[in-house]
Amino acid sequence: MTTSDSVQKITVADEFKVCTVCGYDMGFHVSFQKDIDVPVRLLLICPDCGARFDVGWTANLPKN
Ligand SMILES: [Zn+2]
Repeated sequence: MTTSDSVQKITVADEFKVCTVCGYDMGFHVSFQKDIDVPVRLLLICPDCGARFDVGWTANLPKN
């Protein structure tokens, strides 16, 4: 399993912009993941090391 294969659940206090894996501190990319329980889960991806974080965001995307 690579770093980008696993997803770490994060509870955000005041701010979350530093990667807990590599220390990159300029924020994150965003990706979408389909989930059984919710329409779409939004994940944060560290641009430097590829670590993925779940801060509990979900979204409904428009149907095509
Ligand atoms: Zn990182």
